[in-house]
Amino acid sequence: MISVRDDLRALEGYHSPQVDVRVRLNTNESPFPPPQEWATEFAEAIAGIDWHRYPDRGATTLRAAIAALHGVNAANVFAANGSNEVLQTLLLAYGGPGRTVATFEPTYQLHAQIARISGATVVEGERNAEFRLDPAEIQRVLGTYAPEVTFLCSPNNPTGVVEPAAVVMELIESAPGLVIIDEAYAQFSDWSALELVREDRPMVVVRTFSKTWGMAAARLGYLVGPSWLVAELDKVVLPYHLDTAKQLAGTLALRYVVAMDDRVRFIVAERERLAAGLAAHPIDVIPSGANFILFRPRQMAGRALWEGLLAHSVLVRDCSGWPRLADCLRVTVGTEEENTAFLDALAAVVSAPSPVLSISES
Ligand SMILES: *Cc1c(COP(=O)(O)O)cnc(C)c1O
Repeated sequence: MISVRDDLRALEGYHSPQVDVRVRLNTNESPFPPPQEWATEFAEAIAGIDWHRYPDRGATTLRAAIAALHGVNAANVFAANGSNEVLQTLLLAYGGPGRTVATFEPTYQLHAQIARISGATVVEGERNAEFRLDPAEIQRVLGTYAPEVTFLCSPNNPTGVVEPAAVVMELIESAPGLVIIDEAYAQFSDWSALELVREDRPMVVVRTFSKTWGMAAARLGYLVGPSWLVAELDKVVLPYHLDTAKQLAGTLALRYVVAMDDRVRFIVAERERLAAGLAAHPIDVIPSGANFILFRPRQMAGRALWEGLLAHSVLVRDCSGWPRLADCLRVTVGTEEENTAFLDALAAVVSAPSPVLSISES
């Protein structure tokens, strides 16, 4: 019998349970597909692909389009199959055996997961009761462990909390190694760490097409960072990892920035409507700068509320069993109708808790 690497034996896979429901607000996707014009242009573009040829290995057109979006040079952009592959490539290059990676919990589980798969040791810093980063905790973690890589997710998943520029700067100035800012949700917040990227600073900002751009199916993400770091990643990543269709999908999508900005504004407005609706009940609402909201009922168990919503065919993410997130649930902002269905179901469950159903998430 062959056995997996010793250090992987205890690892559990990443799970995002799906249940068949009417209103699905559990995975932070965009409620809207990309514009129809994009779909038409993309269909025409893929009809012209030279399928017998390898793709442009450097994804030069795509990188140039992303660079133009952010006002940087193409040499400052690295793109991959979802931001998860960007993170994996970073960890292959700067994590790995004998190295330490720091996270501040609770946060996106895949940071620690991918770090461990790379062979690195993960150390966990703690966020405070408001799920924020305390300067003392930043100093403790960085001072004690001197991590080669430090993760910061802002807006943080699953809390929605946005770290202010001053805290991010402190982290960057105190970190002895690379700082990775995961900004999968940055378009929904009023501040981005992109302005802090500099050639002489070991810090990168990671973005994705999966959320704002409504392109989770395309698996496309990227980072903006120093050109010397991008050059290292280009050595580590598999050759031709970005297929031609994907490069076209991303490049064409960037022609629709105005339409995407409209959607972001709509989702932010709906997020505020959801936050107000949640706060009208005995529920703690964590202020969010993302396209989702973390909340915690004060007078019933989080799991009971999750089951009650499910009985109304509304699925949210049950975080109540996750470390540090007792009784917490996370709702993704959906369409206007979906959000209203969520608020209606919430009101019904909170005012008259339904008998606990034995529906299991699997
Ligand atoms: C959704 C999400 C991503 C996106 O990953 P992709 O691989 O680009 O789909 C990255 N980071 C965080 C924190 C997320 O929530």
